[in-house]
Amino acid sequence: MRIVLLGPPASGKGTQADQLTGRLAIPKISTGDMLRAAKSSGSELGREVAAIMERGGLVSDDIVIRLVDERLNQADAAQGFVLDGFPRTVAQAQSLDELLRGRKAKLDSVLSIEVDRSLLVERATLRRMDKRTGQIYHLKYNPPPPGAELVHRADDQEETVGRRLDEYDRMTAALGPYYERLGLLRRVDGVGSPAEVTERVLKALG
Ligand code: AMP
Repeated sequence: MRIVLLGPPASGKGTQADQLTGRLAIPKISTGDMLRAAKSSGSELGREVAAIMERGGLVSDDIVIRLVDERLNQADAAQGFVLDGFPRTVAQAQSLDELLRGRKAKLDSVLSIEVDRSLLVERATLRRMDKRTGQIYHLKYNPPPPGAELVHRADDQEETVGRRLDEYDRMTAALGPYYERLGLLRRVDGVGSPAEVTERVLKALG
């Protein structure tokens, strides 16, 4: 299955992508994770994108499209994938269509995880990541175990979260209608426990 997960920052997209990876045996392709890895490796690409990411802006379409193109060439993505955080613009969505057409493949489903803005801000500002394991916690709803080495992503600070949500609304709002026209879009209520949302996601996938 080839799936795209849409949803604003802190909507739980990443968590649901992980669930789908396990249940459907397909890799998760997260442009955010790839860019963060580039940033922490200190590569040329990483240095190029660091400042943009820290202020919550969007990295250029060219860069993320190239990353996805390279990732789709890896063997594990041949039979399916769940894309998390890509596409974010209509230009990226069109490029994805082309990348897949070139591989004689197409998307099966686009799920949009929907959560109110006030809840998103609370989720992001209380979100923490264990820097050793990459595991995500929430200080209120999913507290970390003792000994976790927690970091608060720079782009999860309250002011930046507001900017990322504005950016999401501005650029990504057109993606819903784009995929709706293609008959691929399914909306999923993202409010509830991660397990509840996973149930809805699986139901939406049929
Ligand atoms: P995420 O983990 O998906 O929230 O991504 C973290 C940051 O990486 C975003 O705030 C952007 O700066 C950048 N990024 C990730 N995916 C994309 C994309 N598809 N297009 C542009 N920028 C992206």
